[in-house]
Amino acid sequence: MPKANLRVLDSPSGPFHKAECSVCGETFYVLPEVIEFKEDMLKQFDAHLHNQHRGQWDAMEKRKQRIADENRR
Ligand SMILES: [Zn+2]
Repeated sequence: MPKANLRVLDSPSGPFHKAECSVCGETFYVLPEVIEFKEDMLKQFDAHLHNQHRGQWDAMEKRKQRIADENRR
């Protein structure tokens, strides 16, 4: 199973307003008026991983957890 990445696509609204999942090709949109557009886009992709690519999401969470544990030491 290839790793899913967020592929940012050209959009007249600017970067990080349109992107697609590199594995399944699902597209994500952020409205031009959204100020926190990058965060919004990453949040959408995170939810997509959670719903559609659960194995990768779980692995990512484990890695995040490990980094958090190491930073606590
Ligand atoms: Zn996908």
